[in-house]
Amino acid sequence: MPLSPSETTSLLERLGHLPKKKLGQNFLIDGNIVEKSLQLADLPASGDVVEIGPGLGTLTRKLLDAGQTVYAVEIDHRLAENIEKTETKAIQQGKLILSRADAVKMPLGSLPDSIANYAIVANLPYAISSAWLESVLNTQRLPQRMVLMMQKEAVERIWAKPGTKEYHALSIFISNTYQLTEKHAVSRKCFYPAPAVDSMLIRIDLKEDAFLFSSSTRALIRKIFTQRRKQLGSLARKEAPEIKEIIQQWLDEGEHPSSSRPEQIPSSDWKRLGILLAGTH
Ligand code: SAM
Repeated sequence: MPLSPSETTSLLERLGHLPKKKLGQNFLIDGNIVEKSLQLADLPASGDVVEIGPGLGTLTRKLLDAGQTVYAVEIDHRLAENIEKTETKAIQQGKLILSRADAVKMPLGSLPDSIANYAIVANLPYAISSAWLESVLNTQRLPQRMVLMMQKEAVERIWAKPGTKEYHALSIFISNTYQLTEKHAVSRKCFYPAPAVDSMLIRIDLKEDAFLFSSSTRALIRKIFTQRRKQLGSLARKEAPEIKEIIQQWLDEGEHPSSSRPEQIPSSDWKRLGILLAGTH
């Protein structure tokens, strides 16, 4: 069971710790949501899991109880210190490997390179969710499954439809790699302190035909989306000749006129551009 609201406040008091808003320190206090996260993750009997921001260790304990080896990343030294004290045994047994680090710089914690089959389960600090997801893509070592607590708007932005104002570069990168298998609205009351935004618990699974854009193509698409309402033909003219040529070929093959705007192009068509550009820059 996670700590109740009063247990959470007294633990925080004992640690002399005021929850830090800028680190998204909204701790889970609802047992059903912790349970639901584990259920959605559907983990193997003794798997490997990365957890971002273990905080007071609620989800961490549940993952350990489920027989997982947990690679956790926590930026807050006081909270990390508390986990080191409460989970000494798991740490000594090598079941919990805690990194005191920024998850954007260390998106998989200390997960060894030799482990290819792993999952990520996390109640994310909302301020870093997009940057952290990009860092995960950069590792080129994608988990089969992620169960993530995110801000509702962030989920809606990632799975936004072309032509909407929410549709953006990260929507294209993630939706070509992962499918959204489940989503559940989560009440603000499930956290202490209650956040000022709505949350959603999601499960995303690696697609069978997952396509991972190279980092240079991601940079190009991100740059194109800073001018999302400009015509692709004129955006292409600003690029080096070989890139301009490939963009033109891509538009012609997809029967998109040069006057098409980035925000109108479906995610699967951006994948075609990614394939054409692969190995060229
Ligand atoms: N897992 C806990 C739970 O569910 O109750 C806490 C989740 S809380 C929403 C987010 C946690 O992420 C906090 O412990 C916070 O200190 C940590 N955090 C914030 N920014 C971080 C970063 N850049 N890298 C690693 N951890 C971070």
